[in-house]
Amino acid sequence: MAGYLVKELFGPTLQGEGAHAGRPCVFLRFAVCNLACSWCDTDFAPEGAERFAAAEIVARLVDLDVHRARMLVVTGGEPALQWDVPLAEAVRGAGFRVHTETNGTRALGAPVDWLTVSPKPQFHEGRFELVMQSGDELKLVVDETVTDADLERYQTLDFRHFFAQPCMDARYADTLARTVDLVARHPRWRLSVQLHKIVGVP
Ligand code: SF4
Repeated sequence: MAGYLVKELFGPTLQGEGAHAGRPCVFLRFAVCNLACSWCDTDFAPEGAERFAAAEIVARLVDLDVHRARMLVVTGGEPALQWDVPLAEAVRGAGFRVHTETNGTRALGAPVDWLTVSPKPQFHEGRFELVMQSGDELKLVVDETVTDADLERYQTLDFRHFFAQPCMDARYADTLARTVDLVARHPRWRLSVQLHKIVGVP
């Protein structure tokens, strides 16, 4: 079937994570992911998703971007499963700067303006292969299994920024304290919190 399988198009809102946290943007959330992390807080199921042509996606994004911030966050699910040249050209042609967050297990089919790689090996014992080992920022979700050695291993990769972000589940208070401690002892890393959840925007 033709078109991109889209779970949500929404905005205007704020980017909640990483180096651009707090910036106004609109979101394109693709359906479907190639992983199934036990912690996942995102509904990417194909049920309820819709197929859109690139031009339809752009038209909706332009309508959503009422303040003309022209910053688009492309996420999922796993955006690398669908992001391609025709869609990249269409949204960039409309003036959007494209920020993408991927789990890093698949190469992107087209360039973006800001690449966030968020590996999640702790949820896939021995079955997680990080294909994308360079980009703008690496964001590591911290739970009770993440250690100093993980930060030290990832910071050898070719990223400009390294973020440790506490998993926002029932153990959040402990995980936040653990993340702060890890970052304090690894100065190449910065703390990222899910600002959008704290301030209550989608
Ligand atoms: S990679 Fe991301 S979207 Fe996919 S299952 Fe894991 S947390 Fe959810």
